[in-house]
Amino acid sequence: MRKSTLPIEKLKSISLRKIQKKVSEITSEFNKEHDKVITYSRNFTISLSNYCLNHCSYCFYNHRVPKDQDNRNTILLSNSKLDSLIDSAKKFDCKEALILSGEVPDSFQIVRDELKARGFASFFRYLVTLCNKLLDMNFLPHTNVGLISFDYMKELKNINASMGLMLESTCERLSMKGGVHEFSPGKMPEKRIRFIENAGKLKIPFTTGLLLGIGEDETNRIEDLFLIYELHKKYGHIQEIILQNFIEKQNIQYHPIRPIPIEEILRIIGIAKIIMGNEIEIQVPPNLLMGYEKEAITMGITDFGGISPITLDYINPTHPWPQIDYLTKICKKEGYELKERLPIYEKFIRKEGFCSKKIKAVINKIM
Ligand code: SF4
Repeated sequence: MRKSTLPIEKLKSISLRKIQKKVSEITSEFNKEHDKVITYSRNFTISLSNYCLNHCSYCFYNHRVPKDQDNRNTILLSNSKLDSLIDSAKKFDCKEALILSGEVPDSFQIVRDELKARGFASFFRYLVTLCNKLLDMNFLPHTNVGLISFDYMKELKNINASMGLMLESTCERLSMKGGVHEFSPGKMPEKRIRFIENAGKLKIPFTTGLLLGIGEDETNRIEDLFLIYELHKKYGHIQEIILQNFIEKQNIQYHPIRPIPIEEILRIIGIAKIIMGNEIEIQVPPNLLMGYEKEAITMGITDFGGISPITLDYINPTHPWPQIDYLTKICKKEGYELKERLPIYEKFIRKEGFCSKKIKAVINKIM
């Protein structure tokens, strides 16, 4: 397993041109033996409840943010909406069901009442039932519902192709007074790190990443990338790292003095590639970097994440997903083929202990 020999200080002072040169060496080494491919997952999002224990000041999704007529709060997704979503997902040949919710939604009485009315003792039991239903219909669940216990993760492992939790940032300033995580106990860095570590202990193919432009600086970002790399070195479970830039929105509390400049985003993509090498995929959401896809490819990304033909990006609903044809053309121009992948990467399907029998059975049916 490789690791960048460059220390944090060196990576911080390195020019964009030099980062690009190093990235090019790393990718050429890989491309000698592999096809030149950039991947994406054909998914749909099931947003179960936007009631959330935390209150991150940049968040547009949670129930505290004022909503309009077309975008109401969801106490618990209705069965009829779920069924129609599943119907569309079948028609559009989606493979991945991305399951989202606020953190611990059943910490709210209103959610507990709804769960009880539908016969569920807890949000977790409801989630397990849903994952099993999706598997029965040949979808591959990828759950990202915030912090849950080790035992819950253990139960979900067998019925999820992969799982995710953004590290976001371990910068301590963010949890202090005036920081974006001041009112978000679930965003305490040690809790997020423990969760990612637990996923490693359980051999869960895992997605994590950084949220860029929320008050952290480049040193914090590089330290976090090394931290993720160290966790992966220990457990071998990180499939991909998302580098997601914060986007301004109406009705939220956080309004940075200046949005993160594109050059900083490209720098951290390249630095991530230098640290991770070809071991972990580097992902950017293409709807948040429209017009800079070519530059992102040059800086070493290998994945565009989940792109849905039927559902919005719930976190950034004002930024629609690009058309697959559009991305195909850009990749082709750069000498890459855009290829669909599953929510579990091929090497993790083969890796001992990472893919349950139930998940393998669905993969065999849909591939
Ligand atoms: S934990 Fe997630 S859903 Fe909850 S407030 Fe923070 S960003 Fe929003």
